Amino acid sequence: MTSPIKRIDGVTLSDKRVLMRADLNLPVQDGLVSDWTRLERCTPTIRHIIDRGGQVVLLSHFGRPAGQYDPQLSFKELLPQIRDKLALSCELLDHRGELPLASLNAQQEIADVLLVDNTRFFSGETTGDQTLSRAIAELGDCFCLDAFSVSHRNHTTVTGLASFLPSFAGFSLADELDALNATLATIGRPCVAIVGGAKVSTKIDVLRNLIPKTDTLIVGGGMANTFLKAIGYEIGSSLVEDDQLSTAREIMQFADSFDCALVLPTDVATHHTFASTDKALVCDIKDVGESAMILDFGPTSMASIKGIVSSAKTLLWNGPLGAFEIIPFEIASVEVAKFVANRCASGELKAVAGGGDTLALLAKAGVSDDFTFCSTGGGAFLEWLEGKKLPGLSILSTVS
Ligand code: AMP
Repeated sequence: MTSPIKRIDGVTLSDKRVLMRADLNLPVQDGLVSDWTRLERCTPTIRHIIDRGGQVVLLSHFGRPAGQYDPQLSFKELLPQIRDKLALSCELLDHRGELPLASLNAQQEIADVLLVDNTRFFSGETTGDQTLSRAIAELGDCFCLDAFSVSHRNHTTVTGLASFLPSFAGFSLADELDALNATLATIGRPCVAIVGGAKVSTKIDVLRNLIPKTDTLIVGGGMANTFLKAIGYEIGSSLVEDDQLSTAREIMQFADSFDCALVLPTDVATHHTFASTDKALVCDIKDVGESAMILDFGPTSMASIKGIVSSAKTLLWNGPLGAFEIIPFEIASVEVAKFVANRCASGELKAVAGGGDTLALLAKAGVSDDFTFCSTGGGAFLEWLEGKKLPGLSILSTVS
């Protein structure tokens, strides 16, 4: 599905300073990193560079500071934890988004890893600014992209540096592409997609792009409410996007025209507020009360999804079916995830999932390792599935 890319294997790295774009947008709770997966994914590349005599200049965004310095979004406080986790000498290149960047001091010169503070402190980062690209490129001899999750962004530290430096993919990015390519080399039919999550407005293109490729599209989460309201159901105080009702109708017609069955819940689990409860009310979609909030699929809908999955050969999943963070509204997502995992284990289904919430959901269901492949990318995963050319991969392509 993509052109071959240049890889770090075989590149001479001795005495080279490698600008390495990773995804260190780490989840933090009470000042502590709560999940190290993102750093762990790029650690083999970091070690490879150091083992071959190079120095790593690590680049990553952290949150969304929108081109301005924000002490809350600095890597400064996390540096000791990152250093411990890497078990390498690691220094911070402190900046406030100013150019030119301060030259490296002696301590930074000798560290194994030099972590440049949040790249989104630079106002030109998200616009792929040339002046910024040149200034950052001056910090290194070559560029390594090792984050599939940001490869859909035309940002300075994703695509901009390749104009100035020899560029290649790290192991995490290359391995992820290999795995996605292998999984989807032959899409088995029927092909089912589950697209859930909070809002339709963020996933319109995803829905439009998946409809022609899939036999069944299951719409879940808060987004399903907008479709239900567009059909005319009472959805009480549920999350809804009233400005997307006509879009929802268009998408349903579009699905019809491609003979893609668009599936919505026929029964739901509700509560009067967005909070955990032991008093969730399950009802038919026709009986949702005025003050009820739809927070999950009901048991009949769940059974019907399992039926659909039973005959599927390929399944693509992004976004939860319900508000899975609050008990008991994780039930449908978790049950279906377990069912999908079992079908993968018996070799009857290839299932690929992606996106932060989806991965958290699979972890909650205890099936993270049982899907055929879990992508690190949310937006990148979906754009790749849509067949879009991801700019971060284009710069690494061996074919022009
Ligand atoms: P997204 O980031 O778009 O994939 O959305 C994920 C979020 O959607 C999760 O935080 C869920 O809690 C939320 N969500 C799923 N179903 C519902 C629902 N029925 N009502 C409100 N939020 C929901």
